[in-house]
Amino acid sequence: MSHTGGCQCGRVRYEMEVLEQAHACHCRMCQKATGGLFAALVGAPKDKIRWTATPPEEFQSSSLARRAFCQACGTPLGFTYDQPDARQYVTIGSLDHPEDAPIQRQYGFESKLPFVSFCEDVPGERTDADPAAGEFLANMTSNQA
Ligand SMILES: [Zn+2]
Ligand SMILES: [Zn+2]
Repeated sequence: MSHTGGCQCGRVRYEMEVLEQAHACHCRMCQKATGGLFAALVGAPKDKIRWTATPPEEFQSSSLARRAFCQACGTPLGFTYDQPDARQYVTIGSLDHPEDAPIQRQYGFESKLPFVSFCEDVPGERTDADPAAGEFLANMTSNQA
């Protein structure tokens, strides 16, 4: 079974074979990148997702990651770390059937806004709770203003 989605103008479309690691990220960078209060993302290994129309543009939001979007309509479409084995994440709201990707984890709790309450039964953690993540992110430089 494949899952499809795309931007609001239809210029960028994708198809993915699996939906892995559906999560909300409350970190400041995800807030800024989406213009929303958090990012809702679901991923697939890069060989299990393909762009079926025009590929998205990407903004190198930091020294470690790129964020996909549609230049024509502005829809934030996803996120990936630069490593070849990293998953490509897409924004859950850009799926044709976002109901297929229920949020299973929450991250970036250090920046979770106090008036955001949803998925109260879904476990969440601060970015610094995972030592491996801390090490990975330690030398990151942000390109966000
Ligand atoms: Zn578009
Ligand atoms: Zn984030």
